[in-house]
Amino acid sequence: KTEMKSDIEIAQQAVMKPIIHIAEKMGLTDEDIELYGKYKAKISSQTLIELKKNKSGKLILVTAINPTPAGEGKSTVTVGLGDALNKLQKRAVIAMREPSLGPTMGIKGGAAGGGNAQVLPMEDINLHFTGDLHAITTANNALAALVDNHIHQGNECRIDQRRIVWKRAVDLNDRALRKVVIGLGGPLQGVPREDGFDITVASEIMAVLCLAADISDLKKRLSQMVVAYNIDREPVTVGDLKVEGALTLLLKDAIKPNLVQTIEHSPAIIHGGPFANIAHGCNSVIATTTAAKLGDYVVTEAGFGADLGAEKFLNIKSRNKEINPEIVVIVATIRALKMHGGVSKQELSVENTEALKSGFANLQKHVESINEFGLPFVVAINKFVTDTDAEIDVLKQLCEQAQIPVALTEVWEKGGDGGIELAQKVLAILEKKKHNFEHIYSLDASIEEKIHIIATKIYGAKSVEYSSKAKKQIADFEKYGWANLPVCMAKTQYSLSDDPALIGRPEGFSITIREFKPSIGAGFLVALTGDVMTMPGLPKKPAALNMDVDENGKAVGLF
Ligand code: ADP
Repeated sequence: KTEMKSDIEIAQQAVMKPIIHIAEKMGLTDEDIELYGKYKAKISSQTLIELKKNKSGKLILVTAINPTPAGEGKSTVTVGLGDALNKLQKRAVIAMREPSLGPTMGIKGGAAGGGNAQVLPMEDINLHFTGDLHAITTANNALAALVDNHIHQGNECRIDQRRIVWKRAVDLNDRALRKVVIGLGGPLQGVPREDGFDITVASEIMAVLCLAADISDLKKRLSQMVVAYNIDREPVTVGDLKVEGALTLLLKDAIKPNLVQTIEHSPAIIHGGPFANIAHGCNSVIATTTAAKLGDYVVTEAGFGADLGAEKFLNIKSRNKEINPEIVVIVATIRALKMHGGVSKQELSVENTEALKSGFANLQKHVESINEFGLPFVVAINKFVTDTDAEIDVLKQLCEQAQIPVALTEVWEKGGDGGIELAQKVLAILEKKKHNFEHIYSLDASIEEKIHIIATKIYGAKSVEYSSKAKKQIADFEKYGWANLPVCMAKTQYSLSDDPALIGRPEGFSITIREFKPSIGAGFLVALTGDVMTMPGLPKKPAALNMDVDENGKAVGLF
């Protein structure tokens, strides 16, 4: 056995091709891309318009079972499946999210895949990349400054200072900024008020950028964002402040998708990265549609398990008619299934086929959920070195008995070669089965009906309860004309229920909607089922402690 290398060691040993070669493989020329150094590029706005004429490739959505805190390898399988399809001479393009510096500096684990299934240059992608997150942060804070200035200069919109909902943002985990007081120091320093910071990836502008179809749609959505309520409790929007033009200008480059490559030189478009709790957790619509215009197959992912990311991908992002997935890959790991069978974190590497058998119920629920959308699927077993042959055999048998197509996937260890079986199964199903994709709720349904459908069909809940605040908000939203928006559920990723301790496949539970947060620019109503973290804190031993850079500028310890 070879010695285990870290993700960054594998990434740094890989030899990248100039990004222009990757672009040319997809039929683009140097006119179509804007270089950010030798290995990163943005695709130009003009090219995005011209590409609209192309036929769209088939969309493959990668999701997972309810994960362990370490993640189950969706990004890794997404990259590896793209590489495997390209190995089979299929023209595949990968579409993924951009990492946030908060989690990167905080917990171990990036968003650039892992092992031999990674996107490069991983240091850049995990750090400042092409500056998109900085642009989003700046646009967010420009709006905050404009709101405070509006009040300072006479408050023409009659904003109620106690009902300002727009917060400042920074792309770091910084718990000390969750609640702050601003404007102290007398009349020349503005109007004092309570404020707070969100991490950039939880900001509405991130979600807006990710759902915008193009720059005009971006401007329209930005203008619809609610920043505050006035003294009559009516919403005040960016459009009311007349600053949507300035905000769009700040985002004119951030809206262009970024092109990079995998270790095996498959093209990957990495663009946008909204949180999967307060937002919908998928890369940008522009990235997905561009990938589809450039490849015969697009492999993309959605955050957390199928109850969160895939549900939102299919009910929110796929309201855009161009985003029409044809097959879903459900990533499962033996260690997470054992966890759902009751095994503690410390014991996950000990063989336990009995726990695996009972934890299998969690996977089965996600399979049923994907069925609700009328989509075919394949289960990818993401193999870890700790998995035993007996466990793998048991899991394969369980799938076969339940007539669930399954493929053992070893892309972390072997790159594209480890994903050939998965790629072949995906291709065979795409050839045979005509998909029958449908949203599980209509936008005309009431807010309560939409939530009821998600809770019962996807989570397996018995009922939904509402706090009195949530009930009052529903009445307000109906009055403001927001009732026809899709609902973006904010729920723990660890359980199908809203209680992280309920592992496996819980039954008979009810979901409690505590509060709503309208994201009108993004175009959804966030329903909060628990405490949602919009500004995480750093752990006791942040990943930052392992990071360094040597005298040649080479990054060290970035996982
Ligand atoms: P997700 O997208 O589900 O959050 P990632 O693909 O980002 O998960 O993987 C999370 C972490 O687990 C990464 O550090 C990755 O290198 C590691 N990982 C993924 N698959 C494997 C595997 N099969 N064996 C060992 N480590 C893995």
